[in-house]
Amino acid sequence: MGAGRFAPSPSGPLHLGNLRTAILAWLFARSTQREFLLRVEDLDRVRSGAEATQISELEALGLNFDGPLLRQSERFPIYFAAIEQLKQRDLVYPCFCSRKDIAEAGSAPHAAPGAYPGTCRNLSESEREAKAKIRPAALRLRAEVNEFSVHDQFAGNYSGTVDDFVLVRNDGAPAYNLAVVIDDAACGIDQVVRGDDLLSSAPRQGYLASLLGYEIPDYVHVPLALNSKGQRLAKRDGAVTLEEITEHGVHPADVVAILLESLGLPSTSLQAALEAFDPVNLPREPWIVEPENIVQQLMPRASRNR
Ligand code: GLU
Repeated sequence: MGAGRFAPSPSGPLHLGNLRTAILAWLFARSTQREFLLRVEDLDRVRSGAEATQISELEALGLNFDGPLLRQSERFPIYFAAIEQLKQRDLVYPCFCSRKDIAEAGSAPHAAPGAYPGTCRNLSESEREAKAKIRPAALRLRAEVNEFSVHDQFAGNYSGTVDDFVLVRNDGAPAYNLAVVIDDAACGIDQVVRGDDLLSSAPRQGYLASLLGYEIPDYVHVPLALNSKGQRLAKRDGAVTLEEITEHGVHPADVVAILLESLGLPSTSLQAALEAFDPVNLPREPWIVEPENIVQQLMPRASRNR
């Protein structure tokens, strides 16, 4: 039996967009008899108390998870063991570039825009020693390809850039792209459902998984929730978190109903949505959210429930 997962970063309360992605990940996992795991991606951007809030919000929606919760901050030795393995295969090198250095270097010939230009890839030992006196090093992957393809249920065979991406940041913390690949493999996750802002990261992650001898998961990058200006939903958009919406007297079940309606699914319960779930019928466009309308839409339901 495989597994799916939801992997929020505990940087604040979950908003309608995150909750909708969580519901989708749950529907994809449960409709394919997979386990559904929760992972806290707390390598950075941690806000105190956010993890507990997020967990209670997911529970309030009625999403059930299997197995123990995984916290990335507790798994550094596992990440560094993989780094050791890659080092032994000469697939890692120290990089001393700042963001500014990278921006100023521009792209290497034939490389995709924004790809790391390889400035530190072939430094000599003495150049490394000299640079190390000025700046701590990040560790980058010595990628042997420029592109890699993964399978995505929505995007099809998706081919994207693989550059010498960062595996360990220059503050010593494992990078997201490393942790995500190791954790998905360690937990038997073979289905990754997440926001489509991460689609362009999937080829890097798939490539790293292949280097480490892991199965590459099947991806489903789902459309995001956007505000009426087409931007990613954020705090400035008003009442977009479950916390804020329930403060208006709205029950979490009504929030679930709105989210399921936005997916074109029966909105009476998660169970009813699960029975009717067919990925083919899901909307492929972003969900445009106008928080005032949502609260207004929900208020009559709230008073009806009382
Ligand atoms: N932690 C990431 C986020 O909250 C998700 C990473 C993933 O699903 O791979 O955006």
